[in-house]
Amino acid sequence: GEVRARRQIQALPDELVSQIAAGEVVERPASVVRELVDNALDAGASQITVKLMGGGVRQILVEDDGCGIPVSELPLALLRHATSKIRSLDDLESVATMGFRGEALAAIASVSEAAIASRTAEDAHAHRLDARSGELTPAARSIGTSVEVRELFFSTPARRKFLKTDATELAHCLESVRRHALARPDVGFSVWHEGKLVEQLRPGSLQQRMQDVLGEAFTDTSREVDLQIGPMRVHGRTGLPDAARSRSDWQYCYVNGRHVRDKLISHGIRSAYEDVLHGSRQPTYVLFIEIAPERVDVNVHPTKIEVRFRDSREVHQAVRKAVESALALSRAAGTGAAAG
Ligand code: ADP
Ligand code: MG
Repeated sequence: GEVRARRQIQALPDELVSQIAAGEVVERPASVVRELVDNALDAGASQITVKLMGGGVRQILVEDDGCGIPVSELPLALLRHATSKIRSLDDLESVATMGFRGEALAAIASVSEAAIASRTAEDAHAHRLDARSGELTPAARSIGTSVEVRELFFSTPARRKFLKTDATELAHCLESVRRHALARPDVGFSVWHEGKLVEQLRPGSLQQRMQDVLGEAFTDTSREVDLQIGPMRVHGRTGLPDAARSRSDWQYCYVNGRHVRDKLISHGIRSAYEDVLHGSRQPTYVLFIEIAPERVDVNVHPTKIEVRFRDSREVHQAVRKAVESALALSRAAGTGAAAG
């Protein structure tokens, strides 16, 4: 083929760097919801309200009653690689917050029309910063933060084309809230779409939250899991074999409070069912794995959905054992038959 004339190497402008990076973090409205709810939880919110228009494509508003952001730091919140959550590599080793990369708000703001309004306990009133114009104005709200994201991907039509119908995008946004909600039953969540309340989850026990999110169909057909193995604890609920589904939609797994999708963990769980679940039947579960932070690396994937364990065999075995013992107990108790 023809040799292309070589072009000069140039550093990309910041805006373009952010837009490219945004591709990794912001796939659809649900990704924005995930990041904004992460931030609200990190800010210690006890009530989080998500208001959506047009499946979240037209508008996403996330309001919290967390600690707020001082007005002097508002512009930093939108800056790439600016974070209040870590200071050093050591901090990263033991990070307890959902966020730490300082990328989400910058990425979101680079592919939407975003604004952030916030008020701390020390402020007499709130301030609102418009990301695009940089304009800072007084605003009215109680202590906490509201982030408003409008016209997602308006400047990146290629990306916008990948979006599905409003109903589908809304469903993904709701799923994103439910994932958070299962991990944080102590926090209240409400979701509005086009001015209508579509989901309301009041703070309460984990049992109550699982029932609110997945229904009695899950809580009635699942057994409690709780096993401490060495440095790990695995707890939650796992479905009886009869409750298995054709889809893997009722499979929620968390590592230190962070929702993850991990082949190793799902394989460990699946293997506990190997004698009782056949074909493509999918087990149901909500499982929380607590592990010393230095035994897991959460900085593997931009969205942190994947993690890396120092000792993956240990995790696989712990998960398998925890689920097996929950199922064995229920088999013994349920039918009087000896556990297999
Ligand atoms: P990260 O969460 O990785 O730090 P973000 O871009 O999501 O990066 O947020 C940047 C910073 O803005 C956070 O470190 C935090 O200090 C502040 N911030 C963002 N959202 C909120 C919020 N809802 N409440 C309080 N502070 C927030
Ligand atoms: Mg964040």
